[in-house]
Amino acid sequence: MTSALEIADPEIADVIRREVERQNTTIQLIASENFTSLAVIEAQGSVLTNKYAEGYPSKRYYGGNSVVDEAEELARRRACDLFGADHANVQPHSGANANMATYLAILDPGDKVMGMRLDQGGHLTHGSPVNFSGRLYDFVAYGVDAGTEMLDYEEIRATALREKPRLLIAGATAYSRVIDFEAFRSIADECGAILMVGAAHIAGLIAGGAHPSPVPFADVVTLTTHKTLRGPRAGAILCREELAAAIDKAVFPGLQGGPLMHAIAAKAVAFREAQSEAFGRYASDIVTNARALAAALTAEGFRGVSGGTDNHLMLVDLRPFGVTGKVAQEALDAAGVTCNKNAILNDPEKPFVTSGLRLGTAAVTTAGMGADEMVEIAAMIGTVMRNPEDQAACSDVRERAIRLCSKFTPYPDL
Ligand SMILES: *Cc1c(COP(=O)(O)O)cnc(C)c1O
Repeated sequence: MTSALEIADPEIADVIRREVERQNTTIQLIASENFTSLAVIEAQGSVLTNKYAEGYPSKRYYGGNSVVDEAEELARRRACDLFGADHANVQPHSGANANMATYLAILDPGDKVMGMRLDQGGHLTHGSPVNFSGRLYDFVAYGVDAGTEMLDYEEIRATALREKPRLLIAGATAYSRVIDFEAFRSIADECGAILMVGAAHIAGLIAGGAHPSPVPFADVVTLTTHKTLRGPRAGAILCREELAAAIDKAVFPGLQGGPLMHAIAAKAVAFREAQSEAFGRYASDIVTNARALAAALTAEGFRGVSGGTDNHLMLVDLRPFGVTGKVAQEALDAAGVTCNKNAILNDPEKPFVTSGLRLGTAAVTTAGMGADEMVEIAAMIGTVMRNPEDQAACSDVRERAIRLCSKFTPYPDL
């Protein structure tokens, strides 16, 4: 049957069809991506997109909100239950917005904030000079230890006591080790800072019990719902009751206009899915697969940054292969393996080139892959890295990727 979209807009229908095919036939190792369920997609593709709902449930600025209010109530309640939080704001359109709203709620322009160095795993919203955060606030950074490539809590404590930030941020976009939130709490208490945890990447691991939760220790926890949490592309904020009013006011009217009610309904679906026992097994399988992939890559001759992983992602140093991150990403893309280049500690290459790759296992685990497939993928990556310019070797890997994906197809019915 021809769909409404195919009739109305064959060009966009074709883009969607080809993107389904790409996702079904190439290996997705981008650490921030996942395959959301058809239930989430259905909620997000619903008529809830039509509704304007500025405000919060039962305190809206427009009429006709009694039905969608229930979706937001369900999303908020499920988020609080899932993470054991006092309060949840489920309106942020994205992780960046969740962070921006948090800063707006807590800080004045020019205030000092301490976060992780961007070239060592921090996010753009942790003070990049080209981001609003770096322009509006006075960011100071902490990094990883040069030897272990892991967070050095004594160093962070010393910097925090010297700098006395108003806000301390824990959390990263490219860090493969468990983050000790209790240590961050005690540092925040010692220097008198508010503690925010940016848990965007690891939200699903936390929900599924595969990473310690920041909720008992942090004043505010920001999330994305589309990374390991496997929901729609969006954000959310959890906080202590004392900060609830300030956070809500910062999201709306401080930062955003009307919430995306279709996305909020889809977040509610994802929170419900994440409450299941199956999701707990999924979260633990992500970590098992990440460890298996990291070990297999080490056996292939790659150097794992910090020596391995405790979560869903790993950084690999490509220098043993004499290949840059940019060349690696492009060669792997052509061979049907999708991932991203990433700076490693003291990277000699420019940020657009880099010497590393960031690889994550959330999506391949959703697709049903296990330890055997991780070994196969590591071998495929090794083959491409040894022969990045060899067309025959790369098309051979492309064939292997297609074969693997035919057994582990994320959307067989799309
Ligand atoms: C992904 C991420 C974000 C931003 O999320 P978007 O939805 O892309 O805006 C913010 N902080 C951290 C730590 C992240 O990993």
